[in-house]
Amino acid sequence: MTIAQNVRQLLEELPPHVELVAAAKTRTPAEVIEAVDAGVTAIGQNYLNESERVYAIIGQRVKWHFIGRLQKNKIGSVVSIFDIIETLDSLELAAAIDRECALAGKMMPVLVEVNSGNEPQKSGVIPAELPGFIARAAKLKHIKIAGLMTMGPLSPEPEDYRPYFATTRQLFEMIKELQIPRVDMRYLSMGMTDSYRVAIEEGANMIRIGSKLFGPRI
Ligand SMILES: *Cc1c(COP(=O)(O)O)cnc(C)c1O
Repeated sequence: MTIAQNVRQLLEELPPHVELVAAAKTRTPAEVIEAVDAGVTAIGQNYLNESERVYAIIGQRVKWHFIGRLQKNKIGSVVSIFDIIETLDSLELAAAIDRECALAGKMMPVLVEVNSGNEPQKSGVIPAELPGFIARAAKLKHIKIAGLMTMGPLSPEPEDYRPYFATTRQLFEMIKELQIPRVDMRYLSMGMTDSYRVAIEEGANMIRIGSKLFGPRI
């Protein structure tokens, strides 16, 4: 199957409330463009240099989602290209994004990354700290908290993700009920190639898919 066929097949399978983000790390600009031409409207990128190459060609034909590790010294460039940052996980980074957005005259939607498995080496805010984190980050005027993102502990077995997705969904609903000013719990980004079906069953309305569209990463 071609990339275009993979994209069309997945778009047909997805319920209308689920937004597809094509996770494009390591893919060539030509591959990403094929996906966009077939109907992808949002691209997820982990690396700034790869994003800049594709952005130069397709620019704002699509929405750009930053899904990688944020480095403080690159936040200015991230802010200038991306429409949403899915991987906010520290107040220091929140303040740095806020500062760059103030300079650029932008309001950046951000998702808070949740370390739903409480894994010591993993990025993300642990569930116990999430309400406090969001209450503080929400005070920054140039970012807008728009939901949660989680990876979950890596596993070859899709069902293993279910409890972590369920936990993140519960946090999502709980934060929504708190009605924190300037917080809009709209997006719940969970699920990748192996786990997206489970994620959608557990309430995801945004999925990040790489290999299923572009083939295995070498
Ligand atoms: C690479 C990546 C994905 C997509 O992974 P696949 O298993 O190839 O679908 C999703 N989210 C993040 C944060 C990624 O880095």
